[in-house]
Amino acid sequence: MKFHYKCTTCGQEYQTDDVIYLCPKCEKTNEPDQPPRGVLKVLYDYQALTHNFEELKKQEFLPVLPIKSLSSLPNLRIGKTPLYSVRHIDNNKLDFELYIKDDSQNPTFSFKDRASAIVSAFAKEHGINTIVAASTGNAGSSLAGIAAAQQQNAIIYVPSSAPKAKLTQILMYGAELRTVDGNYDMAFDLSIEATQKHGWYNRNTAYNPLTIEGKKTVSFELFDQLGLVPDHIFVPVGDGVIISGVYKGYEDLLKLGIIDRMPTIVAVQAQGSSNLINNIFHNAFEYTPSKTIADSISVDVPRNFFMARDFICEYEGEVASVSDEEILHASKVLARNTGIFAEPAAAAAFAGFLKYYENGQLSKNTVNIVLSTGSGLKDLDAVQGII
Ligand SMILES: *Cc1c(COP(=O)(O)O)cnc(C)c1O
Ligand SMILES: [Zn+2]
Repeated sequence: MKFHYKCTTCGQEYQTDDVIYLCPKCEKTNEPDQPPRGVLKVLYDYQALTHNFEELKKQEFLPVLPIKSLSSLPNLRIGKTPLYSVRHIDNNKLDFELYIKDDSQNPTFSFKDRASAIVSAFAKEHGINTIVAASTGNAGSSLAGIAAAQQQNAIIYVPSSAPKAKLTQILMYGAELRTVDGNYDMAFDLSIEATQKHGWYNRNTAYNPLTIEGKKTVSFELFDQLGLVPDHIFVPVGDGVIISGVYKGYEDLLKLGIIDRMPTIVAVQAQGSSNLINNIFHNAFEYTPSKTIADSISVDVPRNFFMARDFICEYEGEVASVSDEEILHASKVLARNTGIFAEPAAAAAFAGFLKYYENGQLSKNTVNIVLSTGSGLKDLDAVQGII
């Protein structure tokens, strides 16, 4: 086997080729209203792998992906998204470098396709034909689209309050839409029940360990596009899976000896949904119910809290919270200065960047990245008040 799993809570390692979700030991200790323990991390035999980035790139990073063959991936362009340089903001010339990694240019217009593609490919290699997911909207619309491309069945649990575009995508791609009169956390529980009852393969983030392996590819691309490790990467955070994926990609490169330092990653949350950053330095996890215009990062209990916290602490990450007003403002500034129209969750990352910029926290000549995770066309209602 080319990879194995390690529990991020107890350290137990698992050598298995079968479907596995949380660490069976730690899962038993999980409690309601607390982030789950026992999320598994995928590890490779880093010593045995090539330490040559160009070599890895030639193989489309297959040696560090949890699948056997690239031909198992959907016949769509996943990732390989553009990195745009921004020189000015509102006519002010920037004295540092700023780049937008535009992941709205994925097949279903969000970053989530990176994860769906790997989960779907793994399913294909294991003869699994039905995949279920709970979602605030994008994970579901992504899985629906990727499953359509792969002739797989997708069953999606989503809060009925999800933006119309995301619900419409799910239906157009032919997935089975199960709307939930409740929040994402309820959708999550229902999808787990369905997995236990029907045996459907589950894509949920911070449950299925492979989603992070898909998400980490963004870091490989950034390294390829920049040829260096940037100083800051601003990442929008809900459950904390994307940010863990970004960390995991750089950590893989570090373990391979391809890079020798980590970037400073800034976890940006909406003020009304900041349970991850509010709890980073606390012993007991406490949450306040989330309320933000940025639906994709609106979560009560961040599912990948512990892994994200460990990454942020180990690699000296930073945190920022931004109000809905700042998110909407950022969305407008981004669109008008770059031609990139981002959904509110993605604009939150740019709002985090703007905060650093306005506070003079970005030194001259530093290299700064904003991860734009989803398209503005996914949520037109959110911006009606500012146009
Ligand atoms: C899912 C999502 C996020 C947040 O990712 P987490 O893994 O939940 O932290 C941010 N932006 C967009 C557009 C998303 O779809
Ligand atoms: Zn464990």
